[in-house]
Amino acid sequence: MLLTMKYTYTIIALFYCTFGVAQLFNPQPHAMTEKYFPDLELNSPTPAFQKKKGFTTYKEMIAFLEDRAKKHPDRATLSYIGSSQKGNAIPLLHLRKGVSADAIRVWIQAGIHGDEPASTEGVLYLIDQLLENAGYSHLLDRLDIAIVPMGNIDGFQQQERTPRNGLDMNRDQVKLLIPESVALKQAFSDFGAQVAMDFHEYNPFRSSYQKMGKAGYTLPHDVMFLYSGNLNIGASLRQYTEEAFVARAKQDLQDKKIRSFDYFTPSEQNGYTQYNLGSVNARASATSFALTNCIATLFEVRGVSLGRTSFKRRTLTTFYLALSYLETACRESDNIKRVLDRSVDENKKVVVRSSRETSEQEFAFIDRATNSVVTEKVIVKNALRSKPIKTRKIPTAYILMPGEKDIAAKLQVLGLAVRQLGEEVMLPVENYVVTRYRRESLKYENVYRQEVATKNHKIEKKFPADAYIVYTDQKNRGLLVEVIEPESNNSFTTYGVLKTGLGEELPVYRYTGAPIHHEK
Ligand SMILES: [Zn+2]
Repeated sequence: MLLTMKYTYTIIALFYCTFGVAQLFNPQPHAMTEKYFPDLELNSPTPAFQKKKGFTTYKEMIAFLEDRAKKHPDRATLSYIGSSQKGNAIPLLHLRKGVSADAIRVWIQAGIHGDEPASTEGVLYLIDQLLENAGYSHLLDRLDIAIVPMGNIDGFQQQERTPRNGLDMNRDQVKLLIPESVALKQAFSDFGAQVAMDFHEYNPFRSSYQKMGKAGYTLPHDVMFLYSGNLNIGASLRQYTEEAFVARAKQDLQDKKIRSFDYFTPSEQNGYTQYNLGSVNARASATSFALTNCIATLFEVRGVSLGRTSFKRRTLTTFYLALSYLETACRESDNIKRVLDRSVDENKKVVVRSSRETSEQEFAFIDRATNSVVTEKVIVKNALRSKPIKTRKIPTAYILMPGEKDIAAKLQVLGLAVRQLGEEVMLPVENYVVTRYRRESLKYENVYRQEVATKNHKIEKKFPADAYIVYTDQKNRGLLVEVIEPESNNSFTTYGVLKTGLGEELPVYRYTGAPIHHEK
């Protein structure tokens, strides 16, 4: 008995040594909430607000969606796009009045990370308002809206970031190794969005900030906007996204005294912190959506680790953002079509590698010691100001050998038309031969990434009838070049979906001749 007691005390002592500091850390003292993030007035009928603790459960969400779809059969259709890994059907609510082909197609997703509850709650509140509030019914006259309120059901049920297999759904937008990502991507591709929104919450207390000042810093921004600087997205589309949608939403929020900023993340580099602003990576939603010639933004509302603190504020911020984008889409419908028509084949070259502009900027923080806003000069790597380093001409098509069935299937999920040649044919093509090869020694998202350099050679090659051909004159060609060109950061080669080695020829070819009409 005595021995057991002693043992228990040792464990308790060890526990306090290991976790004591973390337990004392209150992420957001009351004074900070009062000064910067006071809760807002909101009377929401959504499930989490019908209780004092916890968040909307899967069952409650389904009941909520079924109820709204039943009440408004003329405007709301509920369907299921696939299953989570634990077998929960993933709902998609489609909102529209009539079937005008002229309507702008808007995609909205939330709950991709299971520990970001205001994203789902804000989108459920949006659904409620679009259907029940006459003040917003005009939006459904001009828009065709597809909404997935809880993309990662299993994670959400546990309030954990990832689904059952532990992979991050917002790093899986092109390699597609998570069943939930495949279901969402297929639905997104089938829908053919012209505007896309992905709602998240960010952690304002990252470890980099805890080391700053006397008692650590935190971020003051209610929301951060992540839109893409990827150069394979037409320049006019990138500019229009920023000027017409992002700038307007920032203004709309400012009018409501909600603070916003462009999205950045700190990263530690040999003793100093560098701030990565924006993104170019197709593995995440904002870029992968925009590469389908679509106006896309990921919103990071300040919330991870806050429990139900400022939860109404976070939910309303999510709602206001969605509303601002929907109003802009409605008002700008003619301009949207014009911009997308122009940007779809604007790029004459594929950008295989790019570099981000480095600059010094003043960033704002809240100093936890004084509860006041301070500014710091920081080094920023700005993805929104990227420059090409390596480019290639856009081919007429890429041809894949018949063994690359997996890749052909992934391309189809990514919304690309993939055909087979239909008969054996000799073609002049360019191959890729690997001239530099490095496989990372640690796994990233459960794969060993490969870093390659390749050289193209002009060759004559006989292709069998069942070889795949993917033309580049498609709306989603930005995504196609990102995953096929081997050196790109998010290519199938980089993610080891296509395995290779030094000196090897890849089973993918560039075809630059006139289109071949042997499709099935
Ligand atoms: Zn997230």
